[in-house]
Amino acid sequence: MAKKISPSFILLPATSTGKDLAPRLAIHLNTVVAAECTELEIRNDELIATRPAYAGKVLLKVKMKGNPKVATLRPNVFTAKEVTPPISPRVESLSFEKQVTRMTVKEFVTHGARKQDLTEAGVIVSGGRGMGGPENYKILEDLANVMGGVVGASRASVDAGWRPHSDQVGQTGRTVSPTLYIACGISGAIQHRVGMINSKVIVAINKDPEAPIFGFADYGIVGDVFEVVPALTQEMRKYFGKN
Ligand SMILES: Cc1cc2nc3c(=O)[nH]c(=O)nc-3n(C[C@H](O)[C@H](O)[C@H](O)COP(=O)(O)OP(=O)(O)OC[C@H]3O[C@@H](n4cnc5c(N)ncnc54)[C@H](O)[C@@H]3O)c2cc1C
Repeated sequence: MAKKISPSFILLPATSTGKDLAPRLAIHLNTVVAAECTELEIRNDELIATRPAYAGKVLLKVKMKGNPKVATLRPNVFTAKEVTPPISPRVESLSFEKQVTRMTVKEFVTHGARKQDLTEAGVIVSGGRGMGGPENYKILEDLANVMGGVVGASRASVDAGWRPHSDQVGQTGRTVSPTLYIACGISGAIQHRVGMINSKVIVAINKDPEAPIFGFADYGIVGDVFEVVPALTQEMRKYFGKN
């Protein structure tokens, strides 16, 4: 399709599938790829992509040459804008007659009954060591369910065996960018921060007013998660009419 329509840009989401497909596509088209972009700008007909590097410590501005320009975009970072006059996309259907890959997907295995992938979720309620044990994540699941979100975790709680590794947010876990990230009993170590700093709104609940997470949260609640979270869930139930 890319060879047929010669697009200027090919944009894919920075999900597991998008990150797998984009570099393959770029190689086949003998062109460039920028991964995990958080900003795109067209300047004098050139595409300038902004992407985090060194675990989010620096932001690179990459000038992309070659055609088409392939990029993967972090989920939830870009907002859809209204354009006038509206553009109707041309939808092309593709058919694959024979297998053109040497890989065969045998099976998809999901962990538990997760409704959404952590990297694509709009709301994440994450728990850390402050949750005190695996049984206490029930209160986070309740809060997440009311808001249509999913539960994440810090490495301390994953290492303790309270949550699966697929829930881990951070340098050695998943990079997430939800609209709302609620960190419960998480101190805000740099390795956690890099995985969630692109969230639009960060809310921290921690009983230690000196916890580093309050240094970069948009809203901070100094308090005990076991009091604050159920109270928040109750208010959210009222708000969403889910009594
Ligand atoms: C190479 C490397 C890679 C790493 N990768 C990651 C990663 O991917 N993700 C990650 O998260 N970490 C990662 N870490 C670990 C990271 O440095 C921290 O150790 C970890 O994030 C701490 O987890 P935590 O915030 O849950 O625990 P803690 O730092 O122990 O914080 C627990 C917090 O809970 C609060 N608390 C306790 N009880 C309550 C209560 N009842 N109510 C409210 N608050 C309470 C405490 O005040 C405290 O602030 C990595 C470390 C290294 C060296």
